[in-house]
Amino acid sequence: MKRTFYLMAICVCLLFSCKMESDLDPVIPDQDLGLSNLYLGGDKDMDRFLELYGLKNAEVQDLGEFYFVDNCILANKDKLLSGVYDINSDKKGNENAQVRTTALVSSSAWNYKLIKVKIDNSIPSSGVDNWRPEIEQALEDLNDVKNFRLKFELVSSGDYDILIKSDVGDPIPYNAIAGADWPSSGLPGSPILINLDYTNINDPSNPYDDIYNWTVPSAVKRRNIVHEIGHCIGYRHTNYEDLNEGPGSIGQIYVPGTFTTDPNSVMNGGTANTPWSGFSPFDILTCRTIYNYDWGEVPLFTYRTSHGGNLMSHHWSGDWYEYQNYSYQGFTGFFYQYQKSGTVPLYRYNHTTGLDYISIDSNIPNIDSAFTLDKIIGYVYNSSNSENIPVYEWYHPNEGHYFTTNSNEGYVSGAGWVGGGVAFYVESFY
Ligand SMILES: [Zn+2]
Repeated sequence: MKRTFYLMAICVCLLFSCKMESDLDPVIPDQDLGLSNLYLGGDKDMDRFLELYGLKNAEVQDLGEFYFVDNCILANKDKLLSGVYDINSDKKGNENAQVRTTALVSSSAWNYKLIKVKIDNSIPSSGVDNWRPEIEQALEDLNDVKNFRLKFELVSSGDYDILIKSDVGDPIPYNAIAGADWPSSGLPGSPILINLDYTNINDPSNPYDDIYNWTVPSAVKRRNIVHEIGHCIGYRHTNYEDLNEGPGSIGQIYVPGTFTTDPNSVMNGGTANTPWSGFSPFDILTCRTIYNYDWGEVPLFTYRTSHGGNLMSHHWSGDWYEYQNYSYQGFTGFFYQYQKSGTVPLYRYNHTTGLDYISIDSNIPNIDSAFTLDKIIGYVYNSSNSENIPVYEWYHPNEGHYFTTNSNEGYVSGAGWVGGGVAFYVESFY
């Protein structure tokens, strides 16, 4: 009885998953399938699926395009490969800190979405409470993000999407510098409220050093505006876990490729006094993942896996879901999933020892027959231009090949690493 209930619960859960995947035919063939196609294990993706859903003892039949579990559950093989069935597949270990709300600003790839920002008359145009130059600067900072389809324009009359005004009459807490609303109905959140008599609490344990009506430095104003606009377009706090912020009704959707902590993220909360120091690489990844203009541009993700002892190997993909059980190491700029003008294929090779290698050279197996071609994982540049950056290639006998855009990367500073030459070029972060 208990088992029946448990399986029913899983069926409901999977039906829900199906609803999220519009291309999955939910019709399950209702026929006597016999046991001739009994699955006995060996497909690592299916074995992982059975483990994740607590179905290790279930009767599974292999029906070609899909597996059929206990005459109830359909597991499509393409979807198994792509990892969409994985529970919390968006969050593995220390990855995916940055989160967004479920609602976003309506927009689509290959189209810039103009967001009009208006400054209310309640923001003074002179004196220490004049935030106008910093608002203008913040919009420029956002507009400078590469491959970001949202564009911000300051308007003084007519329609607007985001109104920035003083919190007078609609006060936010005295120790909050600003507040913003989340996007809804496809529109950016509005308004942004600025606390013009913000109290700077230096030391929370010492109420005597609070500075009432703090004179906010220009770089602090600039950072706060970028941060609040981030909220208006659906970005939540990067350090939401430390701040104990739950999903609530607005949702908490992970941004693949970000890390649990990112001290440089402009979207960290509780940082009202922090001056602007630019977007972190993971802020950039978030903008270019959620609101990418060119849909084919993706981060070049690096993964690592252990082979026992101190032996490990690195692996690369533009597909976040490809290496489910490997540890994520970060991303190496951006490359393309289609052959953009001026780019060349980036080949991935498998070595007989289990090491992978990536190269723009299609001839590697002829140079070293221990390598076989796996596939083209995307497209990169073979020469420099004003928008791209070099990727340096390193090798260590125990760790295999490693690629980085950082010519001073600490990871390859230890004994045993050789290389350092330029392998190819990827789209730059900034
Ligand atoms: Zn915030």
